[in-house]
Amino acid sequence: MKVLVAVKRVVDYNVKVRVKSDKTGVETAGVKMSMNPFDEIAVEEAVRLKEKGAVEEVIAVSIGVAQAQETIRTALAMGADRGILVEADGTVEPLAVAKILKELAKKEGVELVLLGKQAIDDDMNATGQMLAALLGWPQGTFASKIEIADGSATVTREVDGGLQTVKLKLPAVVTADLRLNEPRYASLPNIMKARKKPIETVKPADLNVDVTPRLTVINVSEPPTRKAGVKVPDVATLVEKLRNEAKVI
Ligand code: AMP
Repeated sequence: MKVLVAVKRVVDYNVKVRVKSDKTGVETAGVKMSMNPFDEIAVEEAVRLKEKGAVEEVIAVSIGVAQAQETIRTALAMGADRGILVEADGTVEPLAVAKILKELAKKEGVELVLLGKQAIDDDMNATGQMLAALLGWPQGTFASKIEIADGSATVTREVDGGLQTVKLKLPAVVTADLRLNEPRYASLPNIMKARKKPIETVKPADLNVDVTPRLTVINVSEPPTRKAGVKVPDVATLVEKLRNEAKVI
């Protein structure tokens, strides 16, 4: 079976983000960009499924500017077989991404779409769920374990207060949580090999998807700076301050 993995190019998680002076978003000019961390986990899982023999082909797809090709190359270096870049400038909201992924999933005849549980830039946590709804496929979100057997995916989900296991009939949509696996580092030979793997470029219009934004961002601001704390010499002083200054005990 074929697997489609969605990989988004986002500001690297080590970068301290700065809000643009016009408060419309965060600064991305001159900032290090990388694959969304949860998408690395999704790619790793797809590659592991291929290594186990449960999957024949892994297709990495990214929707965004031309440089999102680099994100696809990273997925190829980790072991994906080929890539699709859906080239679009500006913001592409989760619903538009889900519509694009739906068209590609149908066109490619995949039986599993793997996504990250959320993109760390906008924290929407919506694309996988919307995709499952559009396709009418079952979904397993926040996955910490995936097993494929007999036309089904058994997915362990991280839910409040524990783990939930669901059995999904394939085709299905699964979103990766942090504990699903530890993504590999691409080795130099694999990075070289990835340069030869094919990446197809299409436009949203080729898939008949309109990506015009439907949401208006009113304001983006930094969180209020926290006041500096104080160091206390011992427990007795701490208790005294909690009782008499903070008045919480
Ligand atoms: P979100 O719903 O925006 O938090 O994103 C959830 C997941 O959807 C991400 O972890 C990606 O796997 C996928 N995704 C969202 N936007 C894109 C994009 N522009 N290109 C590729 N995948 C995306």
